[in-house]
Amino acid sequence: MLKNGCPGSQEIKQPKPEDIRCRHCGREVEIWSDETERKCKFCGKLNTRVIGQTCLDWCAFAKECVGEEKYRRLKAGRGN
Ligand SMILES: [Zn+2]
Ligand SMILES: [Zn+2]
Repeated sequence: MLKNGCPGSQEIKQPKPEDIRCRHCGREVEIWSDETERKCKFCGKLNTRVIGQTCLDWCAFAKECVGEEKYRRLKAGRGN
């Protein structure tokens, strides 16, 4: 039924780059929309962030929507 996943899984299934500001050196770091952490290419330090609401929060089929590997990684990144 949910062959293509729900809207909340799009950013995870088809990640796109976003710019965040490195909290260590203040420069712009590219992070993909399915990533919870990214090493800054300027200072080499790790930036972590919390991904906003995705299908993981409310979808009973989240594991199928985003795939098991990403599901586990994102769940782990949330610390719960
Ligand atoms: Zn940096
Ligand atoms: Zn879903």
